[in-house]
Order: sequence, then C-alpha cells, then structure tokens
Amino acid sequence: MNILNADLHCHSVVSDGTLTPEALAARAHANGVELWSLTDHDEIGGQQRAAAAAKALGLAYLSGTEISVSFAGHTVHIVGLGFDIDDPRLLAGLKSTRGGRHERAKNMAAGLAKVGIHGSFEGALTYAGNPDLISRTHFARFLVETDFCKDTHEVFRRFLTEGKPGYVPHRWASLGDAVSWIRECKGVAVIAHPARYGFTPTEEFALFTEFKNHGGQAVEVMTGSHSALEALEYADMAREFDLAASRGSDFHSPDESHTDLGTLPWLPGDLTPVWELLAERIQ
Ligand code: AMP
Ligand code: MN
Ligand code: MN
Ligand code: MN
Repeated sequence: MNILNADLHCHSVVSDGTLTPEALAARAHANGVELWSLTDHDEIGGQQRAAAAAKALGLAYLSGTEISVSFAGHTVHIVGLGFDIDDPRLLAGLKSTRGGRHERAKNMAAGLAKVGIHGSFEGALTYAGNPDLISRTHFARFLVETDFCKDTHEVFRRFLTEGKPGYVPHRWASLGDAVSWIRECKGVAVIAHPARYGFTPTEEFALFTEFKNHGGQAVEVMTGSHSALEALEYADMAREFDLAASRGSDFHSPDESHTDLGTLPWLPGDLTPVWELLAERIQ
C-alpha cells in the first residue's frame, strides 16, 4: 500500500534537530503522519522516548537511525529502520562511529579561528543537546546566532563544506559495516537522499551495487532533499536495482527545514514501499 503517510526520516535534539522526540511525535501526528520513525545521526538514544510518545498518540512507529559512512572519498548516509534497539551489535557500531566527533569539532574550531571566528567549539556545544553528537549543524547555528551568516545554508556554503575553513575530512563507518549492523539487528538498510552526494554516474553505480551486495534493501525516493525530477530519477534507480522505496522529510527544525513532517508526495504506485518489508517490526 503506497498511499500511506509514512515519514521515516527526521532528527531530534538527540542529534542535530531542535525538537525533542516527544515534540516531533506530536508534530508528526498533527500533520497526519500514519507511520513514523525518528532517525537521529549515529545515535539511538531517543528511540525509547520516540516509540513511547508515538504509542501514546496511536501513531505506528519503526525504530530508526541515520549512519554516517565514508564511501569513495565522500560521506554517504545510510538509514536503518525497524532494527532491534537492544541489540549490542548496532549499539557498539554506532558508538565507534560517534567516537571521532569531539576531536573533529576541535579541529573545525581551529580552522574557523584562522579566519577570525573564535570560540566556535564552545559555541557549537551550547547548541548540542547531546555533546557526543556535536555536528556541523551545531556550528552552523552558532555562526548564524553570532551574525557571521544569515542562515545555516550560507554557513555550510562559506565555511563548512569541502575546501572551506571549517571543513575537516573525517573517516566514518564503512558501507559494509553500517549495512551489516542494521541487518544483524533485524532492520532494513536504506540509502538516504542519494541526489545529495554529487556522485558521477560511475560512483553512483558503485554505491548502489555495493549496497545491494552487502544486503541493503531500499533507497529514499521521496525526501525533503530531492527535487521532483530527482524523485523520478531515483524511482528509476529503485526499479533498476530492485530496491524498495522510502519516504521521509529529513525534518530538523521548524526554523530551518523546508519540508515539514508528513508533507511529501506519495511514492510512485509501482514501487515496493519499504514498510512492506517491515510489517512485523512496526510498533
Ligand atoms: P555532520 O554529520 O557533522 O557532518 O553534519 C551533517 C549535517 O549537516 C547533515 O545531517 C545536515 O543536517 C547538515 N547539512 C549538511 N549540508 C548542509 C547544507 N548545505 N545546508 C544545511 N545543512 C546541511
Ligand atoms: Mn542532520
Ligand atoms: Mn543525511
Ligand atoms: Mn537526516
């Protein structure tokens, strides 16, 4: 059934969102979401709260996370859905992936200090609901608040992307590890927002092929990061690689996100929705 208001990608204060898991559940429910997942970056500390809040609202829930992966010199995000949150294998994997964030953030602050932006590590930390998950988004909020830039997109463009003063390359999990952690814990692995990576067709083919070989089963087709044309392109990729399709806003904040929870177009009718693979894992 493709006509289901599923929103299987968003972030809370447990990673780089600005709302609590409870506030997100309420917002999803108010927006008509029928199946929801909270997918914080490299962290599942918000899962119990999200599931409990969803249950209280009568909102169906799937466990979720979004794992940072290094692939072919780029950072790729792999969403995991419907896994067992108590399984130590995923917990250990996510902990190892998070490990380098503190040092990376220190190096980002050093890079920004060289162009006259001081105190950004401490500044970013004040925005991080979870200090273990200090991310570029928290630096971006600090630079907006201190009037270096007008919005977070400008911060990323001028300071936080490759070649810019606050950018520090980082080694995240491998694709194989991320997919294995999710699968070992009974979940389904999903390539997040594929249009965002700027891959050449050859790199993209390699990503999809290796993802399939590792046991990955789905790709985000409808996401807040895709244009209407990109959604069509990745619907074709789902057909070509025989992958199920996912739908998720990637909502982070009422002030920053263009796509609100539960507001994306439906998935194309001929694709297999990812929730069909996860019927037994829905809470
Ligand atoms: P990190 O995991 O620390 O590298 O931070 C990545 C996060 O930064 C993503 O999950 C997005 O929330 C955010 N982000 C990445 N690129 C942009 C951009 N161009 N504009 C706004 N936010 C971005
Ligand atoms: Mn994010
Ligand atoms: Mn992402
Ligand atoms: Mn995301």
